[in-house]
Amino acid sequence: MTSLSAKIQDVFDEPACDKNRGKDAKARKEGCARPLTPGAAAGGCAFDGAKIVLQPITDVAHLVHAPLACEGNSWDNRGAASSGPTLWRTSFTTDLTELDVVMGQGERKLFKAIREIKEAYAPPAVFVYSTCVTALIGDDIEAVCKRAAEKFGLAVVPINAPGLAGSKNLGNKLAAEALLDHVIGTVEPDDAGPYDINILGEFNLSGEFWLIKPLLDRLGIRVRACIPGDARYLDIASAHRARAAMVVCSTALINLARKMDERWHIPFFEGSFYGISDTSEALRKIAELLVRKGADREILDRTETLIAEQEAIAWEKLEAYRRGLQGKRVLLNTGGVKSWSVVHALMEIGMEIVGTSVKKSTVEDKERIKQILKDDNHMFEQMAARDLYTMLSEGKADIMLSGGRTQFVALKAKTPWLDINQERQHPYAGYDGMVELVRQIDLAIHNPIWSQVRERAPWDCQPGVKDEQPSTKNETATVHSAQEFAGTTPTISASVEEIR
Ligand code: SF4
Repeated sequence: MTSLSAKIQDVFDEPACDKNRGKDAKARKEGCARPLTPGAAAGGCAFDGAKIVLQPITDVAHLVHAPLACEGNSWDNRGAASSGPTLWRTSFTTDLTELDVVMGQGERKLFKAIREIKEAYAPPAVFVYSTCVTALIGDDIEAVCKRAAEKFGLAVVPINAPGLAGSKNLGNKLAAEALLDHVIGTVEPDDAGPYDINILGEFNLSGEFWLIKPLLDRLGIRVRACIPGDARYLDIASAHRARAAMVVCSTALINLARKMDERWHIPFFEGSFYGISDTSEALRKIAELLVRKGADREILDRTETLIAEQEAIAWEKLEAYRRGLQGKRVLLNTGGVKSWSVVHALMEIGMEIVGTSVKKSTVEDKERIKQILKDDNHMFEQMAARDLYTMLSEGKADIMLSGGRTQFVALKAKTPWLDINQERQHPYAGYDGMVELVRQIDLAIHNPIWSQVRERAPWDCQPGVKDEQPSTKNETATVHSAQEFAGTTPTISASVEEIR
């Protein structure tokens, strides 16, 4: 645990994070996690955070050294997608029992499990995750992994992020440290080129990176490694030869980006693929960084041509939705997808943002949202479910975009809702992703179910039952808009067909 403590202190001191730099030395030592509220859900543990970051590496066997429940907690709880290997979705655990713990069989069982995986699946690597139980009983997973790697001629990578070490966010960073210590830089590619980049913190949820890659392909830019979405072990092992990097979700892997810059001189920027202008900006910055690292300047012109072409196509597609969505009010309650980019993107098509959470936003993000909304009254850190319900049932928003945790608040308030967090079913990245997001919002708002669920129940229509008006402004407002548009425009007709 001593080396783990040192590692934790190291990741708590992050020069590339503004929030971290804003703290004094004492606050920095305490890390990023907020104190937990008794009775409230605590969120994922460090092991869970490490698993989230690493499991999308698709050809690796992910072996959890723990009693069965840890793997059950963390297994594939996001919608990352693979274009090939399926091994990452096979669940491997040493399934420690009380008897194993009492008899000190943990390390032996782990070694045997690695051998079984090697014989049955022959993966390019096995990632071994420590957990609370195995950290507490003192199993030395680093030593077992080292011995197994020598014996089986296989990369066996210890991921030292037991749940008790801290929060999910800490686990994200410890996973990045494991990649830096044991994977990146271990393979020399024979095809490194001036247009190679890394994309960090992109999880390929619902396959959304596949909406971005064709754009990069058209520019002749090769993604050396996308970490972790749809990644292969050997790509990550040779990621140190990329010329530039983009960090998509800065809170998760900023330490990885900074250390790759320090060790291998790979400059990086933080960007987003959500929204039309943000996607364009990201492509521009990638091209600029590559030119700074020696690529031909002509890539800048090619990038501008591609941006102009793609923006024109996207706007043409979005026009079909403008009439139905113009002026519709959106409440954004998400920490996952970058709020500022989504805010910007929705305002681009004329929607009104009535509120956005900034719980996981950096100081820079908040400043951007303030500039876009021209007002910080619409920003909130966190809204209790009761307040969300009140806001929605009073008709202050036509749709809520959030994660699954608050979906039932919206549904109880009979308000359309769309999942835009990690469990989302549709890809929203890039130009096509923006069109898809707007299409899904249109489907949700104009779904005929809303006029039905807001009708009075038959038993309330009996003679003698007081004829009540719809109980909320929201019901009146949105029913009106559904009636106004339903069946009158090709967009809405198409939407209803798709719902069916
Ligand atoms: S690592 Fe610890 S906190 Fe995390 S799931 Fe396992 S037992 Fe629970």
